[in-house]
Amino acid sequence: MADDTPPHPSIALLSELVRRPSITPEDAGCQEIIAERLDALGFTCESMPYGNVRNLWARRGSSGPVLCFAGHTDVVPPGDEDEWDSDPFEPLIRDGLMYGRGSADMKSGLAAMILALEQFVAAHKDHNGCLAVLITSDEEGRARDGTLKVIEALTARDEHIDWCVLGEPSSQKTLGDNVRIGRRGSLSGMLTVNGVQGHVAYPQLADNPIGRFAPVLAELHTIEWDCGNEFFPPTSFQVVDIHSGAGSPNVTPAKLSTRFNFRYSTEWSHETLKQRVQEVFASHDIDFELDWHLSGEPFLTAAGELIDATAKAVTEYPTK
Ligand SMILES: [Zn+2]
Repeated sequence: MADDTPPHPSIALLSELVRRPSITPEDAGCQEIIAERLDALGFTCESMPYGNVRNLWARRGSSGPVLCFAGHTDVVPPGDEDEWDSDPFEPLIRDGLMYGRGSADMKSGLAAMILALEQFVAAHKDHNGCLAVLITSDEEGRARDGTLKVIEALTARDEHIDWCVLGEPSSQKTLGDNVRIGRRGSLSGMLTVNGVQGHVAYPQLADNPIGRFAPVLAELHTIEWDCGNEFFPPTSFQVVDIHSGAGSPNVTPAKLSTRFNFRYSTEWSHETLKQRVQEVFASHDIDFELDWHLSGEPFLTAAGELIDATAKAVTEYPTK
């Protein structure tokens, strides 16, 4: 920026954060910047590292309900830097948009949350209840040593969050045009189909796992899992990987392995979904092993104070 007008404080903080190359699970000093700002506001800041992941839990106030702002400082890798028009870790404003890895997801959210807290505390030094901030550097990666571990530790010491607002980008065209109040569940299946290898000329002596799996796959693909509901699109089944083969044009394989994923609505839990899939397999003649990985159950914030307050804030403070 060539002109001399100082940038808006939120842009200044955002720039400072984007300059830190916090490629997951690195935090690269972002939480230190945030902790310093919160410390000055009277927050008690606690660093809660697990493995190579940095987490920050900060709290202001000791009684009453807890309103927490949550987010992450890590970013996905920039990929081939030659494909960038500017340095991914040197924030640059062009045509009213900031370019730099993590500007949208979600360092702008972090900057906005910190600025909002500073303004709120300046206006309401003796506010009721508690304000809290939970930041991790493990959201874009494995996401095992971040928010999950912090919540476990807080629960173990009887510390709870009543309302939580995530600063993740969810708006489509203008700020606040879309407020997400839930998320679909994600369940992956890792399947191995067992067969018996054989010569393609003597199929009666072999058991081809590809032929065994084909009708099961067709059925899984044609099932209408649900029609979605008021808040979620229909549940979807997708195969992400499949391979088999003995490496010879004359040999049928002994095994097939595949991986699939469900993005599912609140019409299912992972248990009911697994059970339904098992029923499909049970109705076919197939020898298989199936392992599951649950990334997360679907959730939906119930109607109430938090949603009402958020909607009110969006309409009461329109973006300029
Ligand atoms: Zn994010």
